[in-house]
Amino acid sequence: MSMFLLFTLSLLFFFFSTSSQQQQNPNKSDPISLFQQYLQIKTAHPNPDYTSAISFLTSQALSIGLKTLTLEFTPKKPVLLLTWPGQNPSFPSILLNSHIDSVPAEPAKWAHPPFSAFKDSDGRIFARGSQDDKCIGIQYLEAIRTLKSSNFSPLRTIHVSFVPDEEIGGADGAAKFASSKEFDNLNVGFVLDEGQASPSDEFRVFYADRTPWHLIVRALGAPGHGSRMYDNGAMENLMESMEVLARFRESEFDKVKAGMAAASEVISVNPVFLKAGTPSPTGFVMNMQPSEAEAGFDVRLPPTADPDRLKKRISNEWAPTTRNMTYQLHEGGPMRDNKGRPLMTPTNSSNPWWSVFEQSIIAGGGKLAKPEILPSTTDARFMRQRGIPTLGFSPMANTPILLHEHNEFLKDSVFFRGIKVYESVIRALSSFAGTSV
Ligand code: ZN
Repeated sequence: MSMFLLFTLSLLFFFFSTSSQQQQNPNKSDPISLFQQYLQIKTAHPNPDYTSAISFLTSQALSIGLKTLTLEFTPKKPVLLLTWPGQNPSFPSILLNSHIDSVPAEPAKWAHPPFSAFKDSDGRIFARGSQDDKCIGIQYLEAIRTLKSSNFSPLRTIHVSFVPDEEIGGADGAAKFASSKEFDNLNVGFVLDEGQASPSDEFRVFYADRTPWHLIVRALGAPGHGSRMYDNGAMENLMESMEVLARFRESEFDKVKAGMAAASEVISVNPVFLKAGTPSPTGFVMNMQPSEAEAGFDVRLPPTADPDRLKKRISNEWAPTTRNMTYQLHEGGPMRDNKGRPLMTPTNSSNPWWSVFEQSIIAGGGKLAKPEILPSTTDARFMRQRGIPTLGFSPMANTPILLHEHNEFLKDSVFFRGIKVYESVIRALSSFAGTSV
């Protein structure tokens, strides 16, 4: 290859690489570019890079003029806490929470690499975490940046927290943070945490989460020849339980089908595994009834459910000792706050924060859908457990719900509108002069 050709090729390469970079990153401090940079940091499990994320977020916070503090309740699981002091620090503060981590992604099943944060010609930014929930982390910061530059001065102190491990239950993240001395000192009066996208033009807002339980029921019984009919075999015992469970599931599902309740307002019970049989080189021994059988269930309880009643049902009907059954139950988080109340944030006039929040959405030109219980679980439950009013809210209207799915994306226009919404919300919440809360 001649020197001239080499020179031309490298010029061409230089031109194309910089122009495509410019298309993706027109300006490194542009909100979209910051969003892309945050998305490009791989904080997916099982090896989330919290160090790079904290250092990126800290540098952004410092550029806005916020106080920064990194807390480490568990080694290598940092919580970043940012603070904008209010004029009256004796008023309870506002906390804006989001999680740094995300679920993994299978790159082969994505149209664009899941950590490239590629923006297509429609403005859709493809990345793991684009909806869940790195968008709100950057939107909080950009809304605060705008408010600060417009010389707005909050009455109440505003805190922003970035926590680890939400996607794996939050035990070393929000759970430890919310029960810490450092958290007590923040004197938090109201929390905003993540919500979910809305396919309509109304924003969704969540006042409670469902609590996940993992239930494994086990049956024992005498083994026997495959040809014999006898009572109390392990499989027969388990099958009887499956029938009782299926009837309960149907009665809950019927409420949803009849329009009496939303899917997140009932107890869902779904079988996730079945294990039984005596293995053989070709599969299973077919002429023998096994002596053990078990089944696993994903159970979700709305805050209105009575956990003790369900436990009684499990031990009396789903896994009774009279049928040689035992069970193992893992409860994924609290159901009641410190005063024994269900973990629900009121969305009526009894909660002054609700009116301030609702009004600020309307003032910002947005519409709110009827408040809902989130079908799944977030860190909000740890704040509600402290008795602090907490709403789940991610301003993503006209957006398909893609959290944890392939090709998760968020449109640039939706992202920008979300910053405007938070400007209105943060301004209103931090200006709230009500003395009762
Ligand atoms: Zn999330």
